[in-house]
Amino acid sequence: MTACAESTEFVAAAARKRPPKGGKKERRAASQFARRDFDALDELLDGAVDLVRRWTADSVGDRHPIFPDMDGVDLKKRLHEPLPTRGRSARSLLRQVERDLVPFLRDSGNPRFFGYVQSPPSAAGIAGDLLASAFGQNLTSWRSAPAATEIERLVIDWLRQIARLPAAAGGLLTSGGSMATFIALSVARTTHAPPETVRGGLGKLGRRLMTLYVSDQGHMSVPRAAELLGLGTGAIRIIPSDHRFRMDPTALDRAITEDKKNGHIPFCVTASAGTVNTGAIDPLARIARITHRHGLWLHVDAAYGGPLALSPRYRPLLAGLGQANSITLDPHKWLYAPMDVGCVLFRDGNAARATYATAGDYATVFETGGREAFAFFDHGPELSRRWRALKVWLLLKYHGTQRLARRIEEEVELAHHMAGRLQNEDEIELVAPTETSIVCFRYVPVALRFQTPSPEEKLDRLNEDLLLALQRGGRVYLSNARLGGRFALRACLINFRTTRTHVETTIREVLAEGRRQAQKMGLPG
Ligand SMILES: *Cc1c(COP(=O)(O)O)cnc(C)c1O
Repeated sequence: MTACAESTEFVAAAARKRPPKGGKKERRAASQFARRDFDALDELLDGAVDLVRRWTADSVGDRHPIFPDMDGVDLKKRLHEPLPTRGRSARSLLRQVERDLVPFLRDSGNPRFFGYVQSPPSAAGIAGDLLASAFGQNLTSWRSAPAATEIERLVIDWLRQIARLPAAAGGLLTSGGSMATFIALSVARTTHAPPETVRGGLGKLGRRLMTLYVSDQGHMSVPRAAELLGLGTGAIRIIPSDHRFRMDPTALDRAITEDKKNGHIPFCVTASAGTVNTGAIDPLARIARITHRHGLWLHVDAAYGGPLALSPRYRPLLAGLGQANSITLDPHKWLYAPMDVGCVLFRDGNAARATYATAGDYATVFETGGREAFAFFDHGPELSRRWRALKVWLLLKYHGTQRLARRIEEEVELAHHMAGRLQNEDEIELVAPTETSIVCFRYVPVALRFQTPSPEEKLDRLNEDLLLALQRGGRVYLSNARLGGRFALRACLINFRTTRTHVETTIREVLAEGRRQAQKMGLPG
């Protein structure tokens, strides 16, 4: 590939360009290891930054396959090698990154990547991540990282404002939404657990369960958190959703009442603001009234959908979000931050202390020792923590909320445009309404269209094969959802590089591959 030859040369030139920058005096005083490390600044960093530029340009320009044409065994053969005992030159390492890693990455920033819930990393976010690594701050507490701690608290307050929680709210940046939800539910559990469980654990409750409610569209991180918290799988109540995949509040109310009657201890409802399957938003305001009436904790999983609140146009969809006791929101999804950064917000900024503040200390009031006494480890399970806030701070300030909101609106409009285009195709069936920026559909060959009963298993198989073929082809990337037991193709549009042209190409590719798969099954398209 010419792009590759060209780039290697550039890296080599960058490595040759200048001698290490350190003054003679500093170099002489440093340890040998530090001198080598200092050399790496010039030799590795310049090359790496150049590689970032090229990777991004090639991604935007669709010059990588989205998914590599390579199987696991071959890739292992290519990459596994003995533990290195001796160091190697920066130049050869950069060349190896280009040769052995770059071609075998999945390029989730390609404008025709629509899988899962993944956005490209914004450049401002990339710069923030680099600086965070360089500054080496450890965000255990204010004393350990004063400015970094203030920036994280500021970013949390900005996210709090986006979510419309009151000023007394607080929170924590996390590795992602799963960890955010885990922390939120751990705090909900401590807050609602009967006193006898403090020493004796949940076993003290005997046959009574602390029950948790989530819709059949809830994210897998919710039951996982419940299991990790020792609630027992039997404590997870799955509430049905309606024809638009939103939690049915009447069924929720009934389930809570029933559990109370049977002596259980209902404690938490987890609602979704943007389900991972279809992007549906549960009726948050109605659910908030129910949790309020029953005295339950309301957690809202807005990992994906939260940033919609930036848009004046779509904010009403999230009405009720601000009434939650806790919220999960992932800047590494629809705020375009590089992996990884999630966030948990608590309506009461002190809520997490009862669970996490060091023994005996949590009774003391927040900030009695002034801002300098603040410690993140009083609010969550981790001690050493990366400065995740810097990339979010940088990208929010670089773009500003207006530009971010405008792009989020464009992506919602693109999703509706895609749904409309698909609806006009005879061979496509939409299988869920597009509520936010997710489109779920399946390929139905004309020959199968009017069969009754509908040959569901055949259609599942065809669409599974179709999805795999598309992913392997490396031209477009969709993922899937199971809806009402049926297999659906799923496109999530949170990719700021995508335009209508990319949507058109994607539809063409789906139709062409669908016809090929139908033919393989002996069906006319
Ligand atoms: C992605 C996602 C999660 C999990 O977040 P991670 O950052 O992947 O851990 C939870 N809920 C929803 C709705 C999501 O889209």
